[in-house]
Amino acid sequence: MITLTATEENYLKYIYQLGEAQSGLVKTNDLAYKLEHSAASVTDMLKKLADKKLLTYTKYYGVSLTKTGLHIAKKVLRKHRLWETFLAKNLKFTWDKIHDIAEQLEHIQSDELTDKMDEYLGFPKFDPHGDPIPDKQGNISIPNVICLADAKLKKQYILQNVNDDSAIFLKYLNKIKLQLNDKIKIIDKEEFDETMEMLINDKMRITISNDAAKNMYVKSI
Ligand SMILES: [Zn+2]
Repeated sequence: MITLTATEENYLKYIYQLGEAQSGLVKTNDLAYKLEHSAASVTDMLKKLADKKLLTYTKYYGVSLTKTGLHIAKKVLRKHRLWETFLAKNLKFTWDKIHDIAEQLEHIQSDELTDKMDEYLGFPKFDPHGDPIPDKQGNISIPNVICLADAKLKKQYILQNVNDDSAIFLKYLNKIKLQLNDKIKIIDKEEFDETMEMLINDKMRITISNDAAKNMYVKSI
């Protein structure tokens, strides 16, 4: 068992998350943007993680996780999402507060604690933002979703998950009373700035910006 720093674990987690959208290969610049670090410091860290055999890094090409790196990334996500579930379900934290706290708790090393919490929560498959929780073996059920910004006019969807790392965005969703599993029908899409008019649960009409739509994921029904 290798012990990593919280920063090293975060790198693996972000590479995994960025890679999900791009079949595993992540560009250094995308990672630097996500971490808000300089490309030079990101490159230094990638070399360090490559020496530890957690990823393979090819200059100008990109980075992908090794089997061990992938295993650790999923474990960090598992802890993060289980803690978010626990904080919301058992401690009644609102969904805009749990991400920042889980960012700290995800680095606790005890597997026994994680597994006991999983069992205590009844082996949840999704966290309060709708993100899938990897099981003990690292299996993860990725839902078949598209970004709401790419949703088609007149079609019906279910809100499956939302980006969890902006508390302001989640508070905005509270304000417009949009929740996971809500039924969404796209009524109109403004050609000028892609503002969307939507019908929620067959009764509530709301208008949302393209920026907001980019932070939500839906599955068609
Ligand atoms: Zn989170």
